[in-house]
Amino acid sequence: MRTVGLPSGERIPVLGQGTWGMGEDPAERADELRSLLLGIDLGLTLIDTAEMYADGNAEELVADAIAGRRDGVFVVSKVLPANATRTGTKKACTRSLKRLRTDRIDLYLLHWRGQLPLAGTVEALTELKHEGAIRHWGVSNFDVVDLAELITVTGGGEAETDQVLYNLSHRQAEHELLPWCRDWGMPLMAYSPVDRGALVQNDIVVEIAEKHDATPAQVALAWVLRNDGVCAIPKASIPEHVRENVRALDLRLDNEDHKLLDEAFPAPRSPSPLDLY
Ligand code: NAP
Repeated sequence: MRTVGLPSGERIPVLGQGTWGMGEDPAERADELRSLLLGIDLGLTLIDTAEMYADGNAEELVADAIAGRRDGVFVVSKVLPANATRTGTKKACTRSLKRLRTDRIDLYLLHWRGQLPLAGTVEALTELKHEGAIRHWGVSNFDVVDLAELITVTGGGEAETDQVLYNLSHRQAEHELLPWCRDWGMPLMAYSPVDRGALVQNDIVVEIAEKHDATPAQVALAWVLRNDGVCAIPKASIPEHVRENVRALDLRLDNEDHKLLDEAFPAPRSPSPLDLY
């Protein structure tokens, strides 16, 4: 598995597994669990979840997936902005740890920038790290202006990633955020890398996939992962999709593919706010 380095030096897989939408329907649970287990077996040991997903049920599903193999996975979870006061963050983390049935979260993110001052959140994250409840922390859906504010807060420079919407259809991060993250030395964690499945229907993506005897999802993932310093967390709730996504790591897009993709999905010419889901 290719890896990318966090600012602290630890390396994480460039390809992981998302869990948004999982844990909602009991009839889907067995397939979802099988998918996560297969992904872990195939090296997708970076698992992204959040207290928000399925009101905590996604974290409980992750608990089942990582049971007995905790040391072999890297678990990411997120605190909701409404909970992100100093005490609220710590309580939310305790609840997540309980649902995940673990003693530590590997990377704990502020899910998006809310109304609360960053200072209290960062203080709580720093304390949680000190106590060993989390190993690293970071942010999500932070644009450059939010990161600029973050580093003015005591301890704010300790953030280890920014998880943002980044795929062929949403390239805003390329303009300023990605260079910023590179300067900071932290990876950008791309969420919705196949644009919630929409990219597998795109004619150009399908055409490029056929040329390489690959699948459209593999093209979408290979494109996101073409950049150093980027990792991606596609969600796949059926095992065949997991198998397919892992093989995206073997696909190299050529100059002609990039030209076609740039025409169909133009890069931003000027700064514009990040989209978010
Ligand atoms: P995504 O990963 O781009 O797309 C997921 C959709 O694509 C699902 O419908 C999935 O179908 C389908 N899919 C996956 N692999 C496929 C394949 N090989 N062939 C065809 N279809 C495939 O979108 P996402 O779930 O929004 O994003 C990924 C993860 O990022 C989330 O699950 C969540 O963990 C995280 N996220 C974070 C934020 C944030 O604010 N921080 C926001 C959104 C998402 P099946 O499920 O049927 O396999």
